[in-house]
Amino acid sequence: MKSSLVILYHREPYDEVKENGRIVYRDKKSPNGIVPTLKSFFANAKSSTWIAWKQVTSKQQSNFEECVTMEGGNESCVVRRIPLSAQQVKDFYHITAKEAFWPILHSFPEHFTYESSDWENFQHINRLFAAAACEDAAEDALIWIHDYNLWLTPYYIRQKMPSVKIAFFHHTPFPAADVFNILHWRQAIVDSLLCCDLCGFHIPRYVENFVSVARSLREVELVKRGPVRSAFTPHGLALAEPEMTTQLRYQGRTVHLDAFPVGTNPQYIVDVVNSPEIQERVTQIRNDIGDNKLIVSAGRVDYVKGAREMLLCYERLLDRRPDLRGKVNLIMTAVKAAEGMRVYKTAQSQIEQLVGRINGRFSKLNWTPIVLFTEPVPFQDLMAFYKAADIAWVPPLRDGLNLVAKEYISAHQGQDGVLILSEFTGSAVELPEAVLTNPYSDQHMDECIDLALSMSPEEQQQRMQKLYEAVRKYDVKEWANHMFREANATALTSTPALV
Ligand code: UDP
Repeated sequence: MKSSLVILYHREPYDEVKENGRIVYRDKKSPNGIVPTLKSFFANAKSSTWIAWKQVTSKQQSNFEECVTMEGGNESCVVRRIPLSAQQVKDFYHITAKEAFWPILHSFPEHFTYESSDWENFQHINRLFAAAACEDAAEDALIWIHDYNLWLTPYYIRQKMPSVKIAFFHHTPFPAADVFNILHWRQAIVDSLLCCDLCGFHIPRYVENFVSVARSLREVELVKRGPVRSAFTPHGLALAEPEMTTQLRYQGRTVHLDAFPVGTNPQYIVDVVNSPEIQERVTQIRNDIGDNKLIVSAGRVDYVKGAREMLLCYERLLDRRPDLRGKVNLIMTAVKAAEGMRVYKTAQSQIEQLVGRINGRFSKLNWTPIVLFTEPVPFQDLMAFYKAADIAWVPPLRDGLNLVAKEYISAHQGQDGVLILSEFTGSAVELPEAVLTNPYSDQHMDECIDLALSMSPEEQQQRMQKLYEAVRKYDVKEWANHMFREANATALTSTPALV
């Protein structure tokens, strides 16, 4: 039976577990993140397929089982794995995606490297994904494709299946035309995105950037445009947009555009934080810290994340305010990148050097200003840090959305805490009650940390209540529901492509 829903996502939706010498596929342990939410839609579809890639050795390739069915859980889930060699993964994921696309998407053209990119490999893998989708999809299926790694897949699918419904969601920022157009593969990428029925982005600014890119390269017609939804701040912020284009027309096809930011799972976070085990850990952390202010910063090592700017600001704080020495603690997770991602090496050694310098300059026998974790901190432990922390510091120079901000808000349930959030994260336009900071300005960063450290409990609560409301309203389920609602609605207005 052909599938009525096909999801293309680079990650597999299960945990691989070995039981009695046999590999079985189980629901992911943690219901956090978008994978469990996406998978829950499989319960409603008549039949469905999830397509991901899997790295295999040449020995495994010969008897590789492409389709597996998950055991356990509520939904029957067929997963088709596209086998890729270690070299293909490296070229595709670690080099072309991270050294060419990532810096452009995040408006860091100075990090863009063309020479190492393997466009042919990128095309080939996108074709493999498209072929797998076409093999499994019914003629009227909905195919939901995720992220820039699969930029060309809509085009290849459309060639074979003109009437299938294609939705695409960008999980990263989408940059302004003068930055995006640095990519000399720009036309192929835009032509592919214009084959979609629905193209989704986190926030209106990214939609508008895509529209200006499309208009700069192709004769697209603007069909519909209107004020942004009330979930988004329309004015006054770095990424604010008052209006947004919602429909384009190109070669006889209507392309719907929409902004719907990914959410978190607040109820799950609240359950974790309220569990006796985590409460005990929070009490323990608070006992260890005493009356000190605790700041938490969580994320991956990545030059877009603003860790350097945050650490320099923290160093200035300890320089400027000797009264705070011994009175403030920063817990920082900067999870190191996978082996082979050479692009993050400098960022990682920069963080390690700065943390070493600050700790070296200010530590006392009974106080260390920064505790740094470079291995991933398990989600439960992170929730304990969030809950125990007076301040969460989220300073990216650029970030498509930023889930850490939403997780911290959820962990505090509208009661207390301060979120310092960079204006250059997508979530800033949803969360204007945070202490919004400009990581490009030392002075503004300094003012924001001072404000956060001195904020009264009343002001904290006022801000956090509004933030919690926003995070609960637009959670991860609503994000996925929104996409399915909009993708189904496109059927009423789209016309078949003239391919
Ligand atoms: N995270 C984690 N352990 C860590 C650091 C981060 O589990 O030590 C999780 C965090 O809870 C969040 C995700 O990693 O869900 C990071 O998501 P975000 O959107 O902030 O950034 P991304 O890494 O997707 O750019």
